[in-house]
Amino acid sequence: MVRKKVANHQKAAHAASTLERIRRVRAGERLAGAYRAFGAAYRLLDPALPAPTVTRSGFRDFVHPKENRFCTVRELARLQSFPDQYVFEGRRCDTYAKSRYIQQTQHEQLGNAVPPRLAQSIARAIRKQLLRNGRNVVTSNTIEYFKQIFADLDYAYPQRSLGNKRNPLDELVYIVLSRRTQEGQYQHAYRELHRLCRPWHKLLSTGDPALREVLEPLGLVNQRISALRATFTTIVADFGTLTLSPLRRKTYSEAYHYLRSLPGVNDKTAKCVMMYSLGMPALPVDTHTFRVATRLGLVPEGTSLYKAPRVLDAVVPRSLRGRFHVLTVLHGREVCTQKNPACHRCPVKLRCPSATATIHTRGPS
Ligand code: SF4
Repeated sequence: MVRKKVANHQKAAHAASTLERIRRVRAGERLAGAYRAFGAAYRLLDPALPAPTVTRSGFRDFVHPKENRFCTVRELARLQSFPDQYVFEGRRCDTYAKSRYIQQTQHEQLGNAVPPRLAQSIARAIRKQLLRNGRNVVTSNTIEYFKQIFADLDYAYPQRSLGNKRNPLDELVYIVLSRRTQEGQYQHAYRELHRLCRPWHKLLSTGDPALREVLEPLGLVNQRISALRATFTTIVADFGTLTLSPLRRKTYSEAYHYLRSLPGVNDKTAKCVMMYSLGMPALPVDTHTFRVATRLGLVPEGTSLYKAPRVLDAVVPRSLRGRFHVLTVLHGREVCTQKNPACHRCPVKLRCPSATATIHTRGPS
């Protein structure tokens, strides 16, 4: 019988000192202390345990479990799930001679390559993710459904706005005050704060008692004061003055990342500033937008508030994002409330898949 020669299976001749070190290692362990040589691990493989990952420095890291020698390139390749047809070219291993600059030794190729089984696992994970996302793929039916919903809501809430500001700094303050607060309360507080601290740099020198008096009805007073002060201080440090106007010359991505870098500015606040004041096609998703979009089936059931913006960005055309945000906030406050939504007087009740059972429903197909 002719035995086929296995490539990359040359065994190295070891010096006596190397053999002495190899003999000192116990199964599954590495060479310790003074016996370590040039950082090599001298890891003695344990046949009963899975082998560690082989890296490019594997030459003197892996000791054969049954023979007093280092593993060959082929043995390491098998540990990494490479089939025997896969041949590693070039020098077998690094040396400490001048020729060390030679690149891509067999050990380097082996250690730098992605093991086939790992590659397969990654491919399977990517495929699974793609298929899962596939459930969220926006179909033409969804787009058509969105257009109908949008038209109905737009008709039901004509020419209504939420009092947002053209100046980006004004808008930022307005949104910070609006968090977890009733509309009437934060609008009143904004007017009072505007009267007290405009231009806004005055806020940095206004004492806590005066600010507290204005913000007390909103709750979270300390957080709001520190968020505004920290944000203003950062903006002054970045632009030399208290203004967000330089963001008008930035791209969508630059403006978003700058705003998110400010203390206390979350995704919704950043997108409100971008949408209302910088004229960018951002879609802020607050609790109202999230709730209404989910009940209408525009966001799949079970999607988190954190992931919903990405889903809605794919459904809502850029030109309609601002208006859609306003409409869903108005609808969420007045009709599709968190508790007991008034489906009987909802302008989209005949389309909404979440409308109460007594109403004939028709959702996206
Ligand atoms: S039908 Fe009911 S659940 Fe659906 S959007 Fe209207 S109020 Fe909300």
